[in-house]
Amino acid sequence: ILQLYVPLNWFGTYYRMIQKNFIDMENMFDLLNEEQEVIDAPGAPGLDVKRGALEFNNVNFSYVPERVVLRNVSFSAPPGKTVALVGPSGSGKSTIIRLLFRFYDVDNGAILIDGQNIKTVNQKSLRKFMGVVPQDTVLFNNSIKYNIRYGRLTASDQEVVEAAQYADIHDRINTFPSGYDTQVGERGLKLSGGEKQRVAIARTILKAPAFVLLDEATSALDTQTERNIQAALSRVCANRTTIIVAHRLSTIIHVDEILVLREGEIVERGRHEELLSFNGVYADMWQQQLKNEDADARGLALTAAE
Ligand code: ATP
Repeated sequence: ILQLYVPLNWFGTYYRMIQKNFIDMENMFDLLNEEQEVIDAPGAPGLDVKRGALEFNNVNFSYVPERVVLRNVSFSAPPGKTVALVGPSGSGKSTIIRLLFRFYDVDNGAILIDGQNIKTVNQKSLRKFMGVVPQDTVLFNNSIKYNIRYGRLTASDQEVVEAAQYADIHDRINTFPSGYDTQVGERGLKLSGGEKQRVAIARTILKAPAFVLLDEATSALDTQTERNIQAALSRVCANRTTIIVAHRLSTIIHVDEILVLREGEIVERGRHEELLSFNGVYADMWQQQLKNEDADARGLALTAAE
């Protein structure tokens, strides 16, 4: 009993951990062979994406019946535009991303992609169009080349290198002992958080999805790394409908729309300047961040705001 119990329990814990952080969501179910929360209707058609419009229509959602996590959430992300989600811890930002990936179905309302309710299409086709850049990318114990190619298994070596260049990690890889053949992951070369995030960006570039779901890193990175990552991110998000969970407001000054969430509700929305002029929740968050950030980060925010 013990032998059986331990690994199952371990899988459960691991499963919840990766689900929470939506690390490598695309193959999680395959890898862990877990029962899926969401079941496709028999013969559910594939999602058809032509424009890349995304819409939340009065979405309500609870993980457990006693507690509503999202309440009447409505917004739209027009094709190619970027919407940022901000708000305190637990306000429901990651839940919005998980629902978009259809880890769960909404309780009420609908999520529409180019007019199709994602509840009615098969999950595999939906996920094909979603590129995820998580906060903390899990690397396989394999070569760095394999880890990047994972975004599109049919990509050529040349395409892998181009994606790495695009993601600003190519030069770094060339400093590794065996270049692109260097083993990385837990049993190989360990990469920093910023490097792992650039691997995720390179993967996403190879995948070339219609939608990018991005969970910005919470940890502070040094200014140069931060700049490299921002540059790589803006390249991968360009002309793609993008949803960003943002932790540092300085990185979303230019986005098309910012949604401010509190306890599962959108309490403010608009562009950065507009939100500041409301003198409300967002303006408070902005003041707080300016106070908290160290001089370095403050310099970056002010430069970006100019
Ligand atoms: P953070 O900035 O800390 O990541 P968040 O805004 O992304 O927070 P969510 O992760 O979306 O917040 O969580 C919203 C609420 O739902 C929280 O109160 C959280 O405790 C709850 N929650 C999240 N995942 C689950 C789950 N699997 N089961 C039950 N409750 C959950």
